[in-house]
Amino acid sequence: MKALLLLPLLAALGFATQAPARDGLLEPKLHIAAGGKTPRVALTFDACMGLADQRILSVLIDNHIPATIFITARWLKRNAETFAIFRAHPDLFELENHGAMHVPAIDRSVPVYGIASAGSAEAVEAEVSGGANALVADGAPRPHWFRGATAKYTASSIAQIRALGFDVAGYSLNGDDGSLLGARAATRRIASAHDGDVIISHINQPTHAAGEGVAAGILALKAKGFTFVRLDAVSENGSNATVN
Ligand SMILES: [Zn+2]
Repeated sequence: MKALLLLPLLAALGFATQAPARDGLLEPKLHIAAGGKTPRVALTFDACMGLADQRILSVLIDNHIPATIFITARWLKRNAETFAIFRAHPDLFELENHGAMHVPAIDRSVPVYGIASAGSAEAVEAEVSGGANALVADGAPRPHWFRGATAKYTASSIAQIRALGFDVAGYSLNGDDGSLLGARAATRRIASAHDGDVIISHINQPTHAAGEGVAAGILALKAKGFTFVRLDAVSENGSNATVN
């Protein structure tokens, strides 16, 4: 009886296996340990390609809000100045691996949101290792986490990424729907976060309305008494064998 009661609870916490979607792909969940009396969330931002969203960056720096940034080699090439700002605030920014070319780290051929996947284990390795190597080459600490483009995987690509030495960063709350939400919708989405949520948003689309909403949502959470932690500061629960 107890076990039966526990199962949905564990599923809600993200321990369980997420069932694959119709295309067979997994989109793993990740939660951090809840803060309890002091609710907390982990803000994670993807820097896929493109530029840097100073609206979000300035809110983080001005309010001393820590965050985990997932960076591609492709973004890094064009954004040395912003990367230097990240590096100048090691107390705030944890820099992690979003791959080399922003190719979904999926070891079979399947388009995801119109993006062609890596398509083979060799191409997954090139994407994952290429992203980590670019960060290290530019002076960042060796990353611990990997999040692939589109945050979708196969079970075998998750196992491969783990074998390459990375935990796989899912999320529990989508803050901006790939930077495509309107500003008010993004604010509402982020302001509705729960204790222990890992929030995914984008910091690479300075011309999209979503970024303005993400920045406002972060401030709304702060005003509600939430605190913010990086993935390297707390323990996590991930579905689909994505973390230890
Ligand atoms: Zn991305």
